[in-house]
Parts: sequence; structure tokens; C-alpha cells
Amino acid sequence: MYVTMLGTGAPFPDPDRAQSGILVTLDNGARYMFDCGNGTVRNMVAANANPAEVRAVFLTHLHHDHICDFPLFAIAGWMWDRPDSPIVLGPKGTGHFCKMLFEGGAFDADFRARSAYPLRQQNLAAMRPDVREVQPGVAYEDDDVRILCDWVEHIPREISECFGIRFEAEGKAVAFSGDTAPCDAVVRLARDADVLIHECTFPQVFIDFRTRAGVGTFAHTPPEDLGRIARDAGVKLLVATHFGHFDSTNTVIRTASTNHYPVDLMGPHLMDEVVRDIRKHYSGPLMTAYDLMRVNL
Ligand SMILES: [Zn+2]
Repeated sequence: MYVTMLGTGAPFPDPDRAQSGILVTLDNGARYMFDCGNGTVRNMVAANANPAEVRAVFLTHLHHDHICDFPLFAIAGWMWDRPDSPIVLGPKGTGHFCKMLFEGGAFDADFRARSAYPLRQQNLAAMRPDVREVQPGVAYEDDDVRILCDWVEHIPREISECFGIRFEAEGKAVAFSGDTAPCDAVVRLARDADVLIHECTFPQVFIDFRTRAGVGTFAHTPPEDLGRIARDAGVKLLVATHFGHFDSTNTVIRTASTNHYPVDLMGPHLMDEVVRDIRKHYSGPLMTAYDLMRVNL
């Protein structure tokens, strides 16, 4: 199997990175998607994968940078003749989110206009997602894969549960942190995994700035802690992702972020600091993700 990083960015629109999204493709061609942030469906097509071929999508939590492209994912699958309902796994509230989208929802006019075509009448199921709100434990199984999940610590659970994931197939394991502060659940999910794909939203210098400035809530994993997590889990490969635009050189991001970020410090060199800090505790194989990066397992 192989992993394609569909999006490696975070909440801001960013010309260099789509928002969160991962595609796993098995040797038999079966595809599974984890998160569906803005830009990920476009990148999926760029990676020569068809949204209509994706068996299941797991939304780790309901922050916009993990779900923005879901409407496009469903509509593209419908237009490209997906015969069945996409399986959507996610936290409590995923059913409500999906119900508000298509028939009678935000995209009702699109649904009604397009469903006037006889061809589109033949696969209306593609627009009626098979939503399964999951609990910690086994979230999904089919003949090829097993997906386990557990709560991670990102935003208050009563607003949205946030899940980390362990995906098992072909005798291998892929773990994905979702968004989280350092937590033991990820270490358990990632135990001896072939790859751990873990969020690494801010370098330490950003964390220090945000702590001083009192900006937002801090619910992400500092690079040093990420190194400890990868070491403690014994993973065979660590992929750091969900980068919070700190490496951007884009003028809009830099000027618009002055209240959030120490913009004078921003730039690609900060990725070196991230790697340096991860390396304080983890010496195994390490990749910093970029959009459309492929990892063969
Ligand atoms: Zn996020």
C-alpha cells in the first residue's frame, strides 16, 4: 500500500499547502481517506485518484480545515458515477454536518438542478452518505482493512470529539494523530506502526509567542514532544504534518497573521528548527510532509 499526503497545512488558506487530508491506497486499489480539508480533493485528482473510488472517509474532528472539501468530495463522486453511498466515519455531529449539506441543505440548489438529469438520477446514493458516528475502539472493518480509533486531546469533547486513528491492512499499520496536544492515546495507537503521521502545527518559537500573547488555545503538539511520542511508540517512520503556515513566504498570510503569529520570524528556515527539536528525542526515519508526497509501505 501507499500513503499520499493530500494536504499538509492548517486552517488558513495557503497557496503552498492544502488543509488536512491523507489518502491510503491498497495494493488491490481500494482507497481510504482521512480528513477532507480544503484543497484535498483537487490534490487527490492531481495524484490520479478518483474521489468516486474512495470506500470510506474518516473525519477526525469537525474543525473546518478537516472537513471543508467534503461537499466537493461527495458531489465529484456523484458526477463521476459513484454507484453507492460513501461511508463517512467521524465524531458525534458528523450526521448533522452531512444532513445539512445536500437535499434541503446548503447545496440544495445544486442537488436539485443536477438531479434533474436522468444520468444523475441513477446514482443519487452518492449524495446520501452512509454516516457512522464512531466510538473509541474498532471504527470500521471490511475484508481488507481494520480501522481503530481513540479520543485525542484537541478541543473540548462536548464541542467536537477528536480522534486519532490506527489503520491496519496488508499486515501493516498506519497511525494518524488528527489534531492533538501530546497524548498517550496516540502512543498506544501508533505502537510499532510502520508509519506515524502526526500533527506538528507550530515550532517552539511560535508556541512561546502564542503563550505570551494569549492567542487562541494551545492544543497542538510541540516538536520536542512529537519526538518523544515517536520514540515511545517505537514507530518505523515518523511523518510530521499539519504545519501552521510558519514556513510561508506568502504576503497575505504574513500580513494577515500579525495578531496570531510572530510574522518577523516566519519562513522556511523554521522547518529546520522543527526537525532539530524532534531529533532531540527521536532518531528514527523522519519526513516533513509536503502536498502530494507519497510514502510506499
Ligand atoms: Zn487542524
